[in-house]
Amino acid sequence: MQKEKQPYEFKRKYAQIRAEEFARECDGRGLNYHVSVGGLDSIVLYLFLHEICHINAPGVSASMLEDKSIRRVHRALGIIRVPPLRREDGTLWTKARVIQEFGFPVISKEVAAKIELLQNPSEKNKTVRHAIITGETGEYGGWQKDSNMKLKQRWLELFGGYENENEGCNYQKPDFLVSSKCCYYLKEKNCDNWGKEHNSVPFLGLMASEGGRRAKSLRMNGCNYFGKSTIRSAPFAIFHRQDILTLALEMDQMWKDGLKEKYHEKLLEEEKIAESFQMPDSIIPEIYGSIERKPDGTLYTTKAQRTGCSMCGFGIHMEKRPHRFDMLYKENPKEWDYLMFHICKDQAGNDYGWAKVLDYIGVEWDPTTIGGNCKGQMSLPLDMMI
Ligand code: SF4
Repeated sequence: MQKEKQPYEFKRKYAQIRAEEFARECDGRGLNYHVSVGGLDSIVLYLFLHEICHINAPGVSASMLEDKSIRRVHRALGIIRVPPLRREDGTLWTKARVIQEFGFPVISKEVAAKIELLQNPSEKNKTVRHAIITGETGEYGGWQKDSNMKLKQRWLELFGGYENENEGCNYQKPDFLVSSKCCYYLKEKNCDNWGKEHNSVPFLGLMASEGGRRAKSLRMNGCNYFGKSTIRSAPFAIFHRQDILTLALEMDQMWKDGLKEKYHEKLLEEEKIAESFQMPDSIIPEIYGSIERKPDGTLYTTKAQRTGCSMCGFGIHMEKRPHRFDMLYKENPKEWDYLMFHICKDQAGNDYGWAKVLDYIGVEWDPTTIGGNCKGQMSLPLDMMI
C-alpha cells in the first residue's frame, strides 16, 4: 500500500523490474509465460512487456467476448484467440447457450454463485444454502452466527424464496435462472487450459487500486506469485488508474511513432493478417474514446471507463444511466433488442431476455426513460441497498 502511493516514475520502473524478475524465474523453472489480454489495461501491459521490458510473451485472449474495437486492436497486436470450451456434442459454448442452460450472470460473481446454489438444491449443499439465507455456518464453518455467506437483505428479498419452506421465511423467487458459470465456460477454463497445454503462466493486468477480492490477494501476495496451484505476475499491481492511463498515452505515442508499421510488417510476414487489414491508428480501442486531461490534470477516457462483455450483468445494479445496456442500444440497437428480449426461451417456447432480469432487480433499461424519468425503478430502503 505504501508502494501504491509512490509517484508514477517509481511505479513504472518497479513494474519493469518485477516483470523481468518473473520472466527470469520462469526461465529458471522451465516455464513459458504469456500475457492474458482483454481491455485497455492488459493491452498496455502487452506493449509494455514487449517494447519496454523486451519480454517476448505471446498475448492470449478470449477475444470473442470483447467489443469489436478491442478485437481490432487485438488483431493488430497478433493476440492469440482462445475459443470457448466445447460442449459434449462437440460444438462450442456461446453466451446464449450458457445463459439458457445455467442462467444470467447478474449482480456479482459471488452473489450469482449463491443464487445458483439456491436454485439447484441438493443434500450436499444443504448447509451452504442454510448459511446463504441465515448467515449461520454450522459445525464446518465454526458455528458462526452472522457470516458473510449470508446474502444481502436486498437480494434475499428477491431470490431467497427457494428456501421459504425450509427456513420459514417469505422471500420471492424469480422465473429465470442466475449463474456465475458464464466466465468459466467462455473465458476462464479455456484460457487456463491454453496455459496448461503450453506449459505457460500468465502476466495479468490487475491493479490493487481496483478493489474487490483481487486487491486483497494482490496486496497479500505481491506482484509475482509462485504458489502451489497458481503462478502469475501482475506487474501493475501497485498502479492507479492515472498511472495506467499515463502509460497508455506513452504506448500510444510509440504506436504512432512507428510501432504500428513494425507490427503490421511482422504480422504480414507471419501471415497472421490479410493485406487488406486496416491497422488501427491508436492502441486505445474506440470504445474508450480518447484519453484526455481535465483542467486539474487528471486523465480520463472520454467514452467507456471500463469494458467487458457487452451483455454482462455483473455490477449493472450499481451503474448510473446511461448504463452499458443504454450504450449498447445507441451503438447496436439490433444486438440490444436480441439481448433484451430474445436471448432465452422459457418452457413454453417464448423468447425473453435481460429486460425481464433487469426489471426484476429494479434496474431501469427503457431507452425512453433516460434522463430523470424513473419509470419502473424500485425504491428500496437505504439499509437494504448494497
Ligand atoms: S464477464 Fe460476464 S458476460 Fe463476460 S464471460 Fe464473465 S459472466 Fe460472462
